[in-house]
Amino acid sequence: MKAVLDHVGIAVASLEAAVAFYRDALGLEIEVTEEVESQHVRAHFVGVGGPALELLEATSDTSPIARFVDRRGPGLHHITLRVDDLAATLERLRSRGIRLIDEVPRPGAENALVAFVHPASAHGVLVELQQKEHGG
Ligand code: ZN
Repeated sequence: MKAVLDHVGIAVASLEAAVAFYRDALGLEIEVTEEVESQHVRAHFVGVGGPALELLEATSDTSPIARFVDRRGPGLHHITLRVDDLAATLERLRSRGIRLIDEVPRPGAENALVAFVHPASAHGVLVELQQKEHGG
């Protein structure tokens, strides 16, 4: 099995302030903005050459991102590893007793299927597993 780092998710409290830093101060470009309605999140992908940065903005108070920011403040939220076969990866993790947040793949940003691994089983890091539509 192999996995590729796809992006790093950053929860922001204020998109305006985040844009002032990443775009205006660092000179980076927000390449894609996407609404993930199921998660009440707007994701802004910033190109940095390799894996992207994903600025995550809550669109409602019930968003997991709003809860995260309330509890811990803005900051690093998750890393996303892209795999070829998400269902098989979940099965493999399950068989080893790894705690999963999503037992089955669900639609995520970038037209991909995603599933989250619980940080308790991933050394304190929220790990998102992702399978792009065409396996790439
Ligand atoms: Zn993400």
